[in-house]
Amino acid sequence: MTDFDRTRTFFHLPDGLVYLDGNSLGPLPVAVPKRLERMLRSQWGEMAIGGWNRAGWIDAPRRVGDRIGRLIGAEPGHVVAGETLSIKVFQALAAALHLRPDRCVILSDRGNFPSDLYMADGLARLTERHEIRVVDPEDVEAAIGPDVAVLLLTEVDYRTGRLHDMARLTRAAHAAGALTVWDLAHSAGALPVDVVAAGADFAVGCTYKYLNGGPGAPAFVYVAPRHVDRVEPSLAGWLGHAAPFRFEARYRPGAGIDRMRVGTPPILQLAALDAALDCWDDVDMADVRRASLSLQKTFITEVEASCPELSLASPRESARRGSQVSFRHPEGYAIMQALIARGVVGDFRAPDLLRFGFAPLYIGDADVRRAAQVLAEVMHGRLWDHDAYRAVAAVT
Ligand SMILES: *Cc1c(COP(=O)(O)O)cnc(C)c1O
Repeated sequence: MTDFDRTRTFFHLPDGLVYLDGNSLGPLPVAVPKRLERMLRSQWGEMAIGGWNRAGWIDAPRRVGDRIGRLIGAEPGHVVAGETLSIKVFQALAAALHLRPDRCVILSDRGNFPSDLYMADGLARLTERHEIRVVDPEDVEAAIGPDVAVLLLTEVDYRTGRLHDMARLTRAAHAAGALTVWDLAHSAGALPVDVVAAGADFAVGCTYKYLNGGPGAPAFVYVAPRHVDRVEPSLAGWLGHAAPFRFEARYRPGAGIDRMRVGTPPILQLAALDAALDCWDDVDMADVRRASLSLQKTFITEVEASCPELSLASPRESARRGSQVSFRHPEGYAIMQALIARGVVGDFRAPDLLRFGFAPLYIGDADVRRAAQVLAEVMHGRLWDHDAYRAVAAVT
């Protein structure tokens, strides 16, 4: 059993703050500043260029990738870290499309994060032969037709927390001859994920949300072993080359997942992420899921009992939710500002969503009850600034 009283000591959070925004940026693990300080002095400071070999910087994307892989059920050697999630979406999607040359539709849903859709759109305009079909989340399965090359979905909806059934949709895609690219931005570190059991072809995700890697932390990409040696990298960077230090004029893809590397990895961010991943060493994701659902249930029950003006925007059935809960209110922006001013940090997503993320590693039952109580005080006293709402309404 995971001891969450212990994991709470792993994070730096100011006293009195209830932090329910780890789905946007995870808090600072206390191990990170120490590790970075040591790494800067003993590696960059002492070794300079020698750090690439002596400190193993060159292999850091694979080393850290394997640690993430363990949290998403990937086989060792099939996840690599680097770049940003938007870039990894592009890379994985391009690779998947290349494996289905006879088809031209990219299928996604309206709940997907805009950057994923923008990247797909940019890629389709570049190839001039692909098109994007975007349907409602509940209509995805029925829309997987014989022309679909790739299903591009985010498992957990960033606005509502709605959870797709990854195994079921992957099966449906495969039955129709399509491949899948799963975005795990709101899944990795939030709930149990098993890319192998689900049969996922490609998966991508970021590490600054539930994995606490820090602002701008590198993203990751997984490619199923059955595909990886057939992948033709569209972003053919020198560090994805089979022999980068031969500086050959022609690109040859590296072995396995190494071909999904692009350029020089962000070594400082990888060191911070590596230290942050220590938090997960003794953590069982099934315990995280149980604890997260219990926190969400407490929050929903308390908020619905005391704030009838707020309506639940997330699925009511816990099995259909990721690790966040959202409520709607037309003045959601101003209400969230009032909460933040009172030490309860969630966030707002236009046009009307108050979004709260639940990460049991550093959030306990008392935090959730306090958040619900502060929200009730704000609602009952109408303690928000109506002008703040008008200001944001004017620009959106
Ligand atoms: C957070 C998030 C992103 C952000 O992409 P970056 O390139 O890291 O800025 C993309 N897609 C999804 C689904 C996200 O939740």
